[in-house]
Amino acid sequence: MTDILIATHNKHKLDEFRALLTPLGFCVLGADDVALKDVEENGTTFRENSVQKALAAATQTGLITLADDSGLCIHALHNEPGIFSARYAAQNGGYPAVFEILFQRLKDTTDWSAHFECCLCLARPNLPPLFFEGVIQGRLSSSPESSYSVFGYDPIFIPEGFDKTFGALPSDTKNTISHRAKALEKLISYLKTNALK
Ligand code: IMP
Repeated sequence: MTDILIATHNKHKLDEFRALLTPLGFCVLGADDVALKDVEENGTTFRENSVQKALAAATQTGLITLADDSGLCIHALHNEPGIFSARYAAQNGGYPAVFEILFQRLKDTTDWSAHFECCLCLARPNLPPLFFEGVIQGRLSSSPESSYSVFGYDPIFIPEGFDKTFGALPSDTKNTISHRAKALEKLISYLKTNALK
């Protein structure tokens, strides 16, 4: 088994990566398993933030490291909160309080389309970082639902082609279609032809 560190303290993200990578023979470690120090995220794109997190963690631990930077982009709000998704929620009372703030901001528009975006950065000792990106289009629901997942904005995001939110879809379904799953699919096809060093 190859060890891979997921540079996140977010349990929801870690669970999703573990579900997707363990069947491929990886031993998935989280930030808490290696007492990873937090890094300041000050990039202006998902890509910049993901590389900051991945390189800092790989340098600190010497492990092959995968970092994810992701967020919800609401089209009528010029793709906000985007890279600030976690911070926007924290500054607005957390979940679900932040949903009401967003609904208020969207009350004068019928365009509730949005997408989730994810950039994965794979950092390996002495090799250049690699990037894998995934996007899932959809729309926001004004009735939050969270039968399966209460992760972040899941209760208000309905992926295209479905009539339930990510929060109300079984996690197996979310883990097949999500922005993170799509980025990981690209990483996995890379791994099929390139051994991890
Ligand atoms: P990061 O940890 O700085 O990448 O922030 C990611 C934030 O984006 C999360 O804390 C959530 O607010 C949001 N987010 C990203 N992916 C998802 C998802 O799959 N479901 C719900 N919210 C997500």
